[in-house]
Amino acid sequence: MADAINAAIDAIQGEMVALRRSLHAAPEIAFQEHETAARIASELTSAGLDVNAEIGGTGLVGIIEGDRPGPTLMIRADIDGLPVTELTGLEFASTNGNMHACGHDGHITIAIGAAKVLSGMRDRLAGKIVFLFQPAEEIVGGANAMIDDSVLQDYPCDRAIGLHLWNPLPLGTIGVNRSTVFASADAVRITVRGRGGHGALPHLAADPVAAAAQIVSAAQTVISREVPPNEMGVLTFGQIHGGVAPNVIPDEVVIEGTIRAYTPDIRELIHQSLERLAKQTALAMKSEVTFERLYGAPPVVNNPEVADWIAATAAGVIGADNVGEVEPVSVGDDMAEFINRVPGCYFLLGASKDGAENHHNARFDFDEACLPTGTEVFVRAALDYLS
Ligand SMILES: [Zn+2]
Ligand SMILES: [Zn+2]
Repeated sequence: MADAINAAIDAIQGEMVALRRSLHAAPEIAFQEHETAARIASELTSAGLDVNAEIGGTGLVGIIEGDRPGPTLMIRADIDGLPVTELTGLEFASTNGNMHACGHDGHITIAIGAAKVLSGMRDRLAGKIVFLFQPAEEIVGGANAMIDDSVLQDYPCDRAIGLHLWNPLPLGTIGVNRSTVFASADAVRITVRGRGGHGALPHLAADPVAAAAQIVSAAQTVISREVPPNEMGVLTFGQIHGGVAPNVIPDEVVIEGTIRAYTPDIRELIHQSLERLAKQTALAMKSEVTFERLYGAPPVVNNPEVADWIAATAAGVIGADNVGEVEPVSVGDDMAEFINRVPGCYFLLGASKDGAENHHNARFDFDEACLPTGTEVFVRAALDYLS
């Protein structure tokens, strides 16, 4: 059996590299992945899968039905690039102003590779595989768009797995966590409303600039005084806007920031504490605050049983010494929306490449030798779960 899997993956290794490079050359950003989705659909269709496209905008699924009934496994890949101008100098570098700077071209390639191999093994499968290609991960909106478009009702799944190429991990290793992998990622807006007036007559106004300054500096006490010392929380204000002239007190100031946490409880605590602190601080300074949660994703927290199963599967591919828990990372990923609803596991595939920069950098690249490894983990997991 192992030989049959390895032979099938070896046979498509050349096409996988070619596919990855052609996807890499033509990246599309969140919710604009029209050509990407069309390419995925045509690859899946020619591999014999049933395809359903335009789910949640540019999302799609490809289905493999085994010859016998059984449970359903979701294999998820995200498909969007970033608005980054590529500087790798690769011969297949993007020239359209966007870039696959996170490795999602690799995710698509690995999932399609697994679909091609498993499509030829339906006689060994009891159950169904849903290959789910999700748009707009980089703005953590694509998973919810597909869920809101009923993808989980139309294709109920019993388990969900996915991977992220991870350059900080050495090639030939896989990180599988039994709990948190990635943090929650939320954007918030705090609008501070005072009463505008003459800069020389502050007593007749309510100054939202002074109130906003207090809120920004006091807000870090949410992290230092309210988040327990053994828990992680990040609060960063990346934007603050207000005012038009040095001698005019404006009516309002708008502050926007990002919140990260490793657990749903701490995520909620930071939101609530920040809202309370901002409102009360503004009130103390004769102003008012409107607090908005703009968008976000929960932390990516694996189901421990599914994680154990993936770790054992990965050990069968690259050896138990090369599989293990990794430190959680404070980036976000809306794979969380799927594995909050379906028991699942998101694992990190070592993809480091000499000379390449890290994810989201204009000089990012990964070692294509990771592609067959990821494919083999998906194939073995599917064959095992649907045996
Ligand atoms: Zn990314
Ligand atoms: Zn990514």
